[in-house]
Amino acid sequence: MNKKQKRALISIIVSALLLIVLHFIPLRGVIRFPLYLIPYAVIGWDVIRKAFKGIKNRQPMDESLLMCVATVGAIILALYKDLSGQTGDYTEAIAVMLFYQTGELFQSIAVGKSRRNITELMDIRPDYANLERDGSVEQVDPDEVEVGSVIYVKPGEKVPIDGIVVEGSGSLDTAALTGESMPRTITVGDEVISGCINLTSPLRIRTTKEFGESTVSKILDLVENASSRKSKSENFITKFARIYTPAVVYSAIALAILPPLVRMLFMGMEPAWGSFIYRALSFLVISCPCALVVSIPLTFFAGIGGASRAGVLVKGSNYLETLSETDIVVFDKTGTLTKGSFEVDGVHHSPYDDSELIEIAALAETASTHPISISLKKAYGKTVDSSRVSGIEEVAGQGIKAEVDGRAVAVGNTKLMKAVGAAYRECPDDAGTVIHVAIGGEYMGHIVIKDMVKPTSAEAIRSLKTCGVKRTVMLTGDSKKIADDVASKLGLSEVHSELLPSDKVARVEELLASRSGKGKLAFVGDGINDAPVLSRADIGIAMGAMGSDAAIEAADVVLMDDDPVKVPKAIEIAKKCLSIVKENIVFAIGIKLLCLLLSAVGLAGMWTAVFADVGVMVICVLNAIRALFIKR
Ligand code: ADP
Ligand code: MG
Repeated sequence: MNKKQKRALISIIVSALLLIVLHFIPLRGVIRFPLYLIPYAVIGWDVIRKAFKGIKNRQPMDESLLMCVATVGAIILALYKDLSGQTGDYTEAIAVMLFYQTGELFQSIAVGKSRRNITELMDIRPDYANLERDGSVEQVDPDEVEVGSVIYVKPGEKVPIDGIVVEGSGSLDTAALTGESMPRTITVGDEVISGCINLTSPLRIRTTKEFGESTVSKILDLVENASSRKSKSENFITKFARIYTPAVVYSAIALAILPPLVRMLFMGMEPAWGSFIYRALSFLVISCPCALVVSIPLTFFAGIGGASRAGVLVKGSNYLETLSETDIVVFDKTGTLTKGSFEVDGVHHSPYDDSELIEIAALAETASTHPISISLKKAYGKTVDSSRVSGIEEVAGQGIKAEVDGRAVAVGNTKLMKAVGAAYRECPDDAGTVIHVAIGGEYMGHIVIKDMVKPTSAEAIRSLKTCGVKRTVMLTGDSKKIADDVASKLGLSEVHSELLPSDKVARVEELLASRSGKGKLAFVGDGINDAPVLSRADIGIAMGAMGSDAAIEAADVVLMDDDPVKVPKAIEIAKKCLSIVKENIVFAIGIKLLCLLLSAVGLAGMWTAVFADVGVMVICVLNAIRALFIKR
C-alpha cells in the first residue's frame, strides 16, 4: 500500500467507527445534523475536493461530483425531515461514501498490483553489463556498451545485450522471452539474445548490437506501447461512458421533477417530492460506469501480459481483438512451417567439384539474409571473401545475380535460370529444394538442399482447427513438388506454390475477397520475401527469433521462439481475453440497468445502488485478472 492508500484506509476506519458510535447514542432532533457531518466530512472530504476540481476543469459529469450531489442531497433530505419533526436518515449518505471509498481503495490496490505483477513477469530489463576493458571487468550501464565489445555474463545473470558466445558453454533460461521452460544449450559461436538468464557457467559474449537495438529493448518497447493501441471494446466503453453518465443524470432530473408534477397536476395526489428526489439521487449513484472503465483496459493489459509470458508479443489490444476473430490462417513455408536451415543433400550435373560449386554459390549469396543463403554459407564453412563479389542483385522469390571473380553468376530457381537463359536440368530427386547455378548464362549444375518441417508444425495446424480456424493455407515460392509434400505431411487445407512475393499478396487478396462473414485473415511469416503480405493481412504474425527486423516492425504479433504452435495459442489467449471483456460488459451493464429500474420504482435505495456498484467492480476486476493466466 502506498501513502495515499493508507490515508484512505484510515479515513474509512475512523468514519466507520464514528458512525457506529453515533448510531448507539440516542439523539433526537436537529442536533444530529452537525454530529453526523463529522464522519461524513472524514470520509467524503477527498471526494468533495475532487468534485470541485472537476468543476474547475469543466468536466462536471465526473463521478466525484455525482457522488457529492447524491450524498449531499440525501443529507439535506434528512435535515428537512428532522426540521419538520420526523427523523431523517443521515447514515445512508455516509454509508454510501464509505462503500464508494472502499471500492476505490480496492480498485487502486488491485489495479496497481496487477499492473506491477504484469510488468514484473516481464522483468527482463538488465540493470548492468560486465564489460571487459583492458583485461579487467567493470560494471557499466548496458547503454554504454559498444557493438563488438566483449561482455562477461556470470551464472544467474541476465544476458544484457545480443551477441555471440566467444568463450564458455552451458545453458540459458529463455522462459521470460519465449515461454519455453526447457533451457537452451549454447556453446562458442552460438548467438544469444538479451533477456535470457545464464544458468550454468560463465560466458564471454561479443556483442553484435547496441543495447537499444537488442531484443530486450525491442520487446520492452513493444509491450510498453501496446496499451496505447486501443481495441474496439475500449473505444466502445469510452463512448458508452460519455453517453451513459449524462443520460442517467438527465433521467435523474426528470425522475425528480416529472412524476411529482404529474401527481400534483393531473392525479390530484400529494406530489411526494421527497420520495422522488431520493430516487433521483440513487440514480446519480448508479450513473458512474466505473466497473467498465476500469476492468476493460485491465483485461486487455492482462491478456497482453499473459501472451508475452507465453512468448507471444501482441502489439496492441486491437490485435487481440482481431486474433480472436481469425478464421483463415495463411503460412509462409520456409522458416515458418519448416526450419529454414537447409542441409546440402547433393550436387548434380556440375563440371565443378561439389565444394567448388558450393563456394561459388556461397560467394554470390554474400549479402543475402534468405534462409537458403544462410544455409549455403554455412555449408561452405569458411568466411566468404566479399571482395571477390560485386554487383549483387537479389531477385525476390527467384535468387541472386552477382559478379564473382569477374564472372556473372546466377544462383536460384528455374525462374531465374529462364531469366538468364541457362539450359537448366530438372532434378529427379523428389524432396529437396533445387538451387541452380549458372555462370555467364551457361548452366553449371545444381545443389540439392533439404529443409525439415518444424517438429510442432503439424500440431499447430491441428490445434488451429480445434480453435475455430476454418482454412489453413500455405503460400510458398518453392517448387510445387516440395510444397505439396509439406502440405500433405502437415494436413494443411490449401497450398499454392511457385509464387513471387507479388503473387503472395495477390493470393492473400483473393482469400480476403472470398471469405464470408467477419472472420479475419492472419498471415504468419518470417518477413523474408513476405513482408508485403505481413502488412496486407488483417493481422501479420512474424517469427521473432529468425525473422528480419523489418518483419518484426511490420508485424502486429511476434512469436519469440518461432514456434508455429504459438499461433493457435495466441488465438486461444485472445479468445479468452475477449470473452472476459464480453462477460464484464454484459454483467456490469446488466446490473446497472437492473438497479436503475429498481430504484426508479422505489424498490432499491442508495444502499443497494452503491453496494451493487462496488460489488460489480470488484467482480469485474477479479475476472479481468484471469486473462493473465494461461494454461501451459
Ligand atoms: P518461401 O515462400 O518458401 O519463403 P521465397 O519466396 O523466399 O520462398 O523463395 C522462393 C524460391 O526462390 C526459393 O525456394 C528459391 O528457389 C528461390 N530463392 C529465393 N531467394 C534465394 C536466394 N537468396 N538464393 C537462392 N535461391 C533463392
Ligand atoms: Mg519466406
